[in-house]
Amino acid sequence: MPQASTLALVLSSSPLNEQDKLVALLTAERGVLKAVAPGAAKLRNRFGSLLELFTEGEFQYYWRQDRELVTLSRGEIRKSFFPVVSAADNVFYFCLLAEIVLKSLAPGNRDTRIFKLLKAVLAGREAGMDMDWLTLYFLTWLLRSEGLLFNPRRCSNCGARDLDQAWLRGDYRGLLCSSCRRGERLGLCRAELDYIAWTASHAPGAAGAWAGHFAPAGLLRILTGKIEHHGEFSLQSRRYLPEFR
Ligand SMILES: [Zn+2]
Repeated sequence: MPQASTLALVLSSSPLNEQDKLVALLTAERGVLKAVAPGAAKLRNRFGSLLELFTEGEFQYYWRQDRELVTLSRGEIRKSFFPVVSAADNVFYFCLLAEIVLKSLAPGNRDTRIFKLLKAVLAGREAGMDMDWLTLYFLTWLLRSEGLLFNPRRCSNCGARDLDQAWLRGDYRGLLCSSCRRGERLGLCRAELDYIAWTASHAPGAAGAWAGHFAPAGLLRILTGKIEHHGEFSLQSRRYLPEFR
């Protein structure tokens, strides 16, 4: 069987049977890769802590043309984010990010931005940035990279610009101004609209430079709802976050 190697982040790892684990990796350049890690479910195994959530590693694997699952042969940790990912205040946010990537990236999607974005979120949290703002930044860019983000500067019905307030259409596909609104309930204030526009030209590490004020919970719920709506799935891990209680 041909062998290959890839840089990747671990998105999930779960027992497949008594011996083996099923692992989902986000590779740096080839999208999501699903793999069997032989023997990884046993107490002592060759993978050690390589398969923990969001560990960045260099993974070697065998693959066959006729099989979706590849077989991990070995790997090496490039960087462990375990202390930051497993901290009680962070772990459910990271579970949500992993679930969103797994459910929303199509199998053939090789966009390299999501990998870089996750690395930036991990580095940002290590540097002490707020987890809710990092999550918000990630959701905004995930939608933008999938071509699903609405224009925060324009009413999708009449074209009015420079909105002070806007409402999301029932199908989540655009914003409406106060004149075009017909009972839509999900509203965004000026600061939230400004923030969405601001993320287009600022790296997550610049989040400290964001000068506006709003509590991120409302926009987190709106963007998560939009991701669920477009993907036609519901996210299990959001129920553990304070923003969704
Ligand atoms: Zn309008």
